Amino acid sequence: MPAEGQKREPERLAALDRYDILDTPCEEAFDRITRLTRRIFDVPMSTITLIDGHRQWFKSRTGVAACETPRGPALCDVAIRETRALIVPDTNEDPRFLANPFVVGAPHIRFYAGAPLITPEGHGIGTLCAMDTKPRSFLDDQVETLTDLARIVMSELELRMLAMTDGLTGTLSRRAFREEFARAFALAQRHRHDLSCIMVDLDHFKSVNDRHGHAVGDLVLAAATAACREELRKSDAFGRMGGEEFAVLLPYTSLASALRVAEKLRAAIAHVRIPTPGGALQVTASFGVAALDGATADMDGLLENADAALYAAKHEGRNRCREWRTVAIAHQGTRRRVLKAGLISFNGGRSSLDCTVRSLSDESASLRIVDTAGVPETFKLLIEADGLSRKCQIVAKADRRLDVAFV
Ligand code: GH3
Ligand code: MG
Ligand code: MG
Repeated sequence: MPAEGQKREPERLAALDRYDILDTPCEEAFDRITRLTRRIFDVPMSTITLIDGHRQWFKSRTGVAACETPRGPALCDVAIRETRALIVPDTNEDPRFLANPFVVGAPHIRFYAGAPLITPEGHGIGTLCAMDTKPRSFLDDQVETLTDLARIVMSELELRMLAMTDGLTGTLSRRAFREEFARAFALAQRHRHDLSCIMVDLDHFKSVNDRHGHAVGDLVLAAATAACREELRKSDAFGRMGGEEFAVLLPYTSLASALRVAEKLRAAIAHVRIPTPGGALQVTASFGVAALDGATADMDGLLENADAALYAAKHEGRNRCREWRTVAIAHQGTRRRVLKAGLISFNGGRSSLDCTVRSLSDESASLRIVDTAGVPETFKLLIEADGLSRKCQIVAKADRRLDVAFV
């Protein structure tokens, strides 16, 4: 990747993330476009490809078997760096692609035409492409048509993101939920009133889809969210954060009350019955609960705490509610959100682990590491950029996260 592209890569990935599209099921609005592309250009293969950090993933595909492949050899990864469509009439004549595994092996791409999907801020997040196993020529007119079709894909993605409610479940879209959350968070912080958040994730939902098909999976999502809505107040915000993951925002609600709400939601989902030819289908969900406290830096900090608690609920066996609690909250001070490289040092300085410092106050910090196993209860945290060296005591632990108090 050219140096310029590498610099913009984190922003490009953040732009892609905002569309919340990766790993979502097939949708007719996108399948229609790849079908059209295939027919208009009379090619055997067409895909709507999104370029993630490590893979290319197809939102829609026709004539292509895999739903994702590694990013390295992806022709689409070359196309997203262009402002215009990338046309390769014959890959065997192009030194860039001669030895490409997708050219030499399946799906044996000889002809490639890919129009980049460019966001309004100018990030290439993927492509709409037409491919053939035979070499072909592509006229300027055809390039124009492919480019217009790629623009239609982009409008579809934009519309999806702008929608305030989610079509399937009627919950708030991620964007609308975050807007509402930001307002409620600012008010709660200013007026020092309670605010809690619940993260919900359906258990083993992939196997529901695998066993009963996506259509039944969709019915389950709609029924489970309808059951939750019955239990919530009008003033609570209920949003779809991604596939089968939801969040509830509870203004004026303490951690203890939020836990009771989560327990009601858990029971409500467990009681849902979805009729299928093979009998009634039941599902469960796991819940993570967190409340605003002095150590919460911002709205994302609160969501992260609820997410960490959800991880614990999954880890402990699913179909349960867990809360995020830090010890000695009163002494932690208000943390600022930061992104700094740090070093966890222990064993008298003989052992060390890299970490990212995500939030920091005079008395505490929140760290991310690859694996919390093997980190002792007390250690030294070094932040070279700040010349900081503090002795730390772990106060909370989850997945790849450590919260520490300086001692
Ligand atoms: P876990 O208990 O750990 O959460 O397991 P899981 O299988 O639920 O977790 P995972 O995140 O691996 O799978 C989520 C699945 O949800 C994968 C995806 O196909 C499915 N999914 C996401 N959005 C939708 C949707 O809108 N409709 C349907 N039917 N399935 C969806
Ligand atoms: Mg799940
Ligand atoms: Mg999930």
